Amino acid sequence: MKVHEYQAKALFAKYGVEVPGGRVAGTPAEARAIAEELGGKVVVKAQIHAGGRGKGRLVSESETAAMYERLTTDPANNEGQVRGDRVGGVRLASTAEEAEQEAANILGKHLVSIQTGPEGKLVKNVLVEEQSAVARELYLAIIIDGAQAAPLIMASTEGGQEIEVVAANDPDAIVRIPVNAASGYEPYVGRTLAARLGLVGDQAAALNKLVGSLYQAAVESDASLAEINPLVVTEEGRVLALDAKFTIDDNALYRHQDLSELRDKDEEDRLEVLADELGVANFIKLEGNIGCIVNGAGLAMATMDTIKFAGGEPANFLDIGTVNDPARVVNAIRVISEDPSVKAILVNIFGGMARVDIIAQGVIDAEKELGLDVPVVMRLVGTNLAEGEALLAEAGLDVIRAESLGEAAEKAVAAAGAA
Ligand code: GDP
Ligand code: MN
Repeated sequence: MKVHEYQAKALFAKYGVEVPGGRVAGTPAEARAIAEELGGKVVVKAQIHAGGRGKGRLVSESETAAMYERLTTDPANNEGQVRGDRVGGVRLASTAEEAEQEAANILGKHLVSIQTGPEGKLVKNVLVEEQSAVARELYLAIIIDGAQAAPLIMASTEGGQEIEVVAANDPDAIVRIPVNAASGYEPYVGRTLAARLGLVGDQAAALNKLVGSLYQAAVESDASLAEINPLVVTEEGRVLALDAKFTIDDNALYRHQDLSELRDKDEEDRLEVLADELGVANFIKLEGNIGCIVNGAGLAMATMDTIKFAGGEPANFLDIGTVNDPARVVNAIRVISEDPSVKAILVNIFGGMARVDIIAQGVIDAEKELGLDVPVVMRLVGTNLAEGEALLAEAGLDVIRAESLGEAAEKAVAAAGAA
């Protein structure tokens, strides 16, 4: 689960990570009031769950796809951010009136950046913050390194830009320091980082404190990503988080009631939200056109691989789990049917604890309730197969049957292609 910049900064502040003073506003009038409190000279920042805002563009809903095309085909179109023309999602204002005006220019529009995708993102709030006089822009992040099964601190002197670009052009510009999860953050890490980033004296100490605080915030929140880009050194020598990205591991949300409340469903995939509401666990939307209903995460992975091997693309990952109620199958099909890109559905069930007859009944019920308008390919083996076959025959359901997974994938790819 991602959170907004303003929410991440509030959390950072709680842990002692230095952030600029500011507050979130939902209307231009609120933005003006906050700017007045902060003395007028502020930065107004669109709050969406995507980066690249500074170099993005604000447009109406009907213009997002064309703008996305423009931004992604010619990088020169991304220029003109905060320092220059007032065109992006991060804007400087010199007075409270200007802050109000900039908020009016941003709120209610769609912000398109190279990270938003062609739909852009509707801006519902802006963060109004005191301006910082930036001397240096650094990069700092803590991620969970899956391969090492440990937190990894990454830092660079090349902050402010896309870290992927830095990594591609100059991999040595990124310092990587793994942290032993058992012993936790130790000050030598901060000292090493300071030296590599060219910070000395008070600034080195400030960095050390900041990294330690960020580490604590990340670990206690079960974050999979805590990123500050840019981490700035100001003209006055302060070290502070000018931007903030924070992602919490969904699997750990159950133990963070307070963090769960930061969820903004408007920013999440519509189908994943629907799946969540219908209790269809482990649904992840993908880009292809073959909807998948599979029991078991491993089998779901194998099914997606086999679809790709057969020349197709899965529209989703779905582990339906051990189903003991046909209604759960109906709900899974409901979610998949809501996806306009789905051209065929592949049901691959290896009945163990899950019973084939319950899955078959679920597909039959789905046809009655929803009216399946795409071809359904079924590969069924295991517990209560004969009972399942009987139900399908009795219902006279028009499904394409397959014996093996390979055959099922090929038939699904063919059916999706013919649609
Ligand atoms: P992003 O484009 O979504 O990553 O948004 P950021 O919060 O990183 O802002 C984009 C850029 O705006 C930053 O990299 C800074 O260069 C600039 N910026 C943001 N806030 C300030 C500020 O208070 N003062 C100055 N001088 N620049 C700022
Ligand atoms: Mn940034």
